[in-house]
Amino acid sequence: MDKEPKQRISLTLTKCPRCDKAISSDVQFCPSCGMVLDQKTAVGLEEERIEADRLMDLLMKDEEVKTLFFQKLQEFYNSSQPHIQSKQLPSPKRQETTAIFHVF
Ligand SMILES: [Zn+2]
Repeated sequence: MDKEPKQRISLTLTKCPRCDKAISSDVQFCPSCGMVLDQKTAVGLEEERIEADRLMDLLMKDEEVKTLFFQKLQEFYNSSQPHIQSKQLPSPKRQETTAIFHVF
């Protein structure tokens, strides 16, 4: 018999790719850092993210939503970082919003 029982253990124990802790391979999330380990869960989250991106793209095609979004974004930046506008974005209003979006 050259099959070692070690191999059976490696089937039920795995390492978290993020924090490197040894964890059971049947858990969906790493109990220590919260990393998604279950393939189905990971795929589901990825699909949700793609769907959110798609919706965001659709929303951004609507000029009204876009304007409102950048307005809110600008408000947010103005209130949290009052210096960013005068220091880094001396250009006209339209370009300001684009630059802020790139920072975001
Ligand atoms: Zn982890």
